Amino acid sequence: MKKVELLSPAGNYEKLETVYHYGADVAYIGGKILNLRAFSKNFEDEELEKAVKLARKLQKKLFVTLNAIPHNSELELLPDYVNYLESLNVDGVIVADLGVFNIVKRNSNLPLIVSTQASNTNWASVSMWRDLGAKRVILARELSLKEISEIREKVPDIDIEVFIHGAMCVSISGRCLLSNYLTGRDANRGQCTQPCRWKYYLMEEKRPGEYFPVFEDERGTYIMNSKDLCTVDFLDKIIETGVDSLKIEGRMKSSYYAGMTTKVYRQAIDSYYNKEYTKELIDSLKKELESVSHREYTSGFYFHKPGENSQNYKTSSYIRNYKFVGKIIEKISEDQYVVDIRNKIEKGEELEIVTKKGENTKILLDQIVNLEDGSLIDSANPNQKIILRGDNSLDLGDLIRVPEKGGSNQID
Ligand code: SF4
Repeated sequence: MKKVELLSPAGNYEKLETVYHYGADVAYIGGKILNLRAFSKNFEDEELEKAVKLARKLQKKLFVTLNAIPHNSELELLPDYVNYLESLNVDGVIVADLGVFNIVKRNSNLPLIVSTQASNTNWASVSMWRDLGAKRVILARELSLKEISEIREKVPDIDIEVFIHGAMCVSISGRCLLSNYLTGRDANRGQCTQPCRWKYYLMEEKRPGEYFPVFEDERGTYIMNSKDLCTVDFLDKIIETGVDSLKIEGRMKSSYYAGMTTKVYRQAIDSYYNKEYTKELIDSLKKELESVSHREYTSGFYFHKPGENSQNYKTSSYIRNYKFVGKIIEKISEDQYVVDIRNKIEKGEELEIVTKKGENTKILLDQIVNLEDGSLIDSANPNQKIILRGDNSLDLGDLIRVPEKGGSNQID
């Protein structure tokens, strides 16, 4: 049985290293044109070349997104860029627009992956893309397990990819103009300001400043605020539809988010094939997913049309149980590691080292040694480097976290 692939987001080089470290088979990144994460720090050419080298070294794959819905003027640079991507030997490009698809096809032999933005919700459109030469179609998120199985059955000769984790849109496959109308920023060019998450009131024009709450019902006012997709407790059912690739959403999320979600789904996939996908394991993986910044979770469209349980009417804040505080960047002796600090830590805190696989390692920080001069300090701040003592379970690239005091509801 062919093992399903795990595909993770990487908004920059560090996130790319992190998702490969925690077990992604493939990462998807945005290049400098036509990608849907305008606010994310995308890959300029030099960094892209470095990214391809890293993928080759680790024997992983790398896809580049070209999935904005472009206007005429944005097509000019495309043929040259496509040639460039082919010369780098990237493993595929993700496109949403038929015109872009055609330009890539005419100018290269790059494997073509049809983006979820193309809203593929039925077997007929998937088979049409196959006939046009697509290697893979990323299905729309608005599909049930049954519909995905039917598509798989009717179109067996194309790769199928589905989303397993991350933010959802209240519009079909992210095709939405709310952000354009309310802020002038185009969601279809990667500039969505997420106005669907805002809190809305009603104001009568002659009574400025008097806000009347809009109640969809007695629960509140976030009328378009979808929860985040989480599928770790029914991943077996998704794998059994016969899809080829499972995708985590979130190129704009933090390294910590990308790393943790990748580690959890890596473990879930491996345990499925090892026949260890037990309720106990699922509970522990779900607990782990609670540790990353997220909105409340939903199973999306996989079992039924989402309905009110997929919306959060109370708040659009994120839930976060841990704070990401640093990353192991060097091993300097048998039991000494250099940690690059990202958020303040204090003497006496218990650090949790998120190991590549399995149980994390906990270390009580009874002293903090400053790398610069070897002095003992009471706390370390972002960008400072410290020396941490630890055993062999630690590894370069491991992320370090501490429990968020009392948990939190903050934006990451
Ligand atoms: S405004 Fe909301 S629904 Fe529309 S594209 Fe942005 S995130 Fe999606």
